[in-house]
Amino acid sequence: MKLKIVSLVIAALILPTALSAAGENMIKVKEMKIERVDGRVNMLLVAERATETHEVRSAGRYTVYFRNTVFVGGGDRFEVAAGGVRSISIVQVKPDVVAVEIDLEDGYEVLSKGYDEKRGGFLFFTKKLPASAAKEPKSPLELEAEQELDEFLRRLRSGGARYLSRINRVVIDPGHGGFDSGAVGPTGLKEKDVVLDIARRVKRILLSETNIMAFLTRRDDYYIPLSARTVISNKYRADLFVSIHANASKNRSARGFEVYYCSDKASSKEAEALAKRENISYGENGVAESREGSVNIEKILFDAGRKKLWNDSRDFSERFFSYSGVNLGIPKKGVHSANFFVLRKARMPSILIEVAYISNPVEEDLLRQPQFREKVAREIVKVIRSADFR
Ligand SMILES: [Zn+2]
Repeated sequence: MKLKIVSLVIAALILPTALSAAGENMIKVKEMKIERVDGRVNMLLVAERATETHEVRSAGRYTVYFRNTVFVGGGDRFEVAAGGVRSISIVQVKPDVVAVEIDLEDGYEVLSKGYDEKRGGFLFFTKKLPASAAKEPKSPLELEAEQELDEFLRRLRSGGARYLSRINRVVIDPGHGGFDSGAVGPTGLKEKDVVLDIARRVKRILLSETNIMAFLTRRDDYYIPLSARTVISNKYRADLFVSIHANASKNRSARGFEVYYCSDKASSKEAEALAKRENISYGENGVAESREGSVNIEKILFDAGRKKLWNDSRDFSERFFSYSGVNLGIPKKGVHSANFFVLRKARMPSILIEVAYISNPVEEDLLRQPQFREKVAREIVKVIRSADFR
């Protein structure tokens, strides 16, 4: 087959300031060479020698971090729009770490070939995924999500804003909604109303006080199936998924704040019971239908990428737990894991927060107060801002 090769080489411009700031032993990253070849893109990041790398794959984006490197090249952002690649950014995320961020079209992935001595750089290329893996039916909600994302990206580009190196996009998922009230407190306070208000506050704070874009899985009191929630966040190409809930127990004295992440095995009987309760999704006819186990578990178990996501989720849960709750004035009950349907399909680190026990009279009263909800929202924002999955 005859290959049509168009080579785009961006000449390296040596920046003296970057050189003097970096130590002598730092590996200089000089330029990104991009070749569009017959429906795919070859990328060569020219660098002096091999170094340790760390890859992060999230929906629609591939990021790779290079240890002990300094970028001394010219162009740092390339609009490619071919072979599955939307754009490539080179970012000096830390004084000694260069990152390459590749934004991908749906249905493509990036394969890394490591450091190529002959070519003097790190080699990557795109690969089209099999049609079955790329094809997902689009619901009106997904289309809406895509539209909102496109608008956001346009705004980002027209404003000349730079991508941040850590968390760019977060999906906040207020649990339940519509005819699924979630847990109900002793005086009738509904979980679905509390968590929607907290989620809106988180979004408002993120948009007004940070550069992080926030999306909600539901914006009002309506029902969304659990499966649609992660589909939405995958469409948003979010870096992080945070599901907000309020806990309940038959034991009215149970109190406290908890953080959960997804795992195949529950960390305790209580965690398993909670996952079961949160996994129950009410069908249109009002009949409870358990969604647990309705995904292809074998496939997921052997998906190393997912394991990495779950590990990141665990780390984030622990960070979340150690940072927050201090000022909430309620007991901190710990980090747990269980098989949450809403978390397991997410293609990004994802956690579920049980803010407090709505079944406990004291905590129900707290959950009713706008000041407490604002405090919780600020704790959530604080930890999101500190998140870093490198
Ligand atoms: Zn819930």
